[in-house]
Amino acid sequence: MPAAVQSVLETMTSSPSFENLLSPTAPACLDVDAPQSWRRIIHVDMDAFYASVEQHDRPELRGQPIAVGRNSERGVVATASYEARRWGVRSAMPARRARELCPDLIFVPPRMERYREISQQVHDIFARYTDIIEPISIDEAFLDVTENKIGEPLAVNIAKAVKADIRRELGLTASAGVSYNKLLAKIASDWRKPDGLCTIHPTKALEFIDRLKVEHLWGVGPATAARMHKMGIQTAEQLRRVELPEMVRLFGKAGWNYWRFVRGIDDRPVRPFRVRKSVGCEHTYRADIRTPLDLERALGDLAEELVARAAAKTFIALTLTLKVRSHNFDTVTRSKTADRPWLDAAQVKEGARELLAAVGIPKSGIRLLGLTLSTPLERDARQGMLV
Ligand SMILES: [Mg+2]
Repeated sequence: MPAAVQSVLETMTSSPSFENLLSPTAPACLDVDAPQSWRRIIHVDMDAFYASVEQHDRPELRGQPIAVGRNSERGVVATASYEARRWGVRSAMPARRARELCPDLIFVPPRMERYREISQQVHDIFARYTDIIEPISIDEAFLDVTENKIGEPLAVNIAKAVKADIRRELGLTASAGVSYNKLLAKIASDWRKPDGLCTIHPTKALEFIDRLKVEHLWGVGPATAARMHKMGIQTAEQLRRVELPEMVRLFGKAGWNYWRFVRGIDDRPVRPFRVRKSVGCEHTYRADIRTPLDLERALGDLAEELVARAAAKTFIALTLTLKVRSHNFDTVTRSKTADRPWLDAAQVKEGARELLAAVGIPKSGIRLLGLTLSTPLERDARQGMLV
């Protein structure tokens, strides 16, 4: 057993006072004597996704420094091609700054529909190998391939197959990281981008972790990183020297996670979930709505509720749909897709009013009204698109 792993196991087992903090599955993660208990996790991350899709679809853009985003005063780079990155152009950079750095930069307007379509195709490729897929954003996902559909024992071979399928079928490259937990799989996928493939074996985990800055650890945001820096802690290796009680005293429950992460322990499961496609609300009225005043009030209330629900789920979307059911149970829906997301109640109410004018107010009275938001903006796109 490698000394580093040995020492971690000893730390974990020789401290009875910490027993209540150790989850029953934790030691298994680093138990090198029981390799069959390790999970096999892959993190797949598409390389310069939006820019690569544009370069694939438009051959004249290949080899060129391009930025997906709007070349306007308030425009922001959503994704830069690798050619543009050589000039220092980065995601979330103001367009003006990007133009200064790279005068020949070609701006390409984003086509979210197209990126979503490709993202779905990438997801379909993952699904050939496992159903345990956790999408993190439009171009990134975790796959648990411990048990997989092709009976392949080596996760690295599945990562290779996924990358090859993506290249052959979509003409795009992805980077993949393979390890026994999410933390390390993600670190690994970042290691040799673009078109990278990196495996972090349990016995090498600490070596990789030691090269990390604290801000690269899961859950360490700028504020926590600043606190750590103040304490003279810059790297994960330094953070590992902080004893567990001290870590918990300083950072609360998160401290417990940091203590585990810097030891290569991360039990978080890969959670398959369906990407939310819509958020909506509807109301059936006890008495049919017949007056303009009641209608105004009802639309206002629904708009408020919709915006609150969407905000609670951090859901941001472009399409608003109105559903109207008349006293006679005739149901009509009308939708409208805007250039900018529906974010506030006044805007939603106005949109709903326009849609209602288009369907016409039923003479028999309104029994039910519903509002739904769909065509979501993905997390990655938001910073680029909303400005
Ligand atoms: Mg990516």
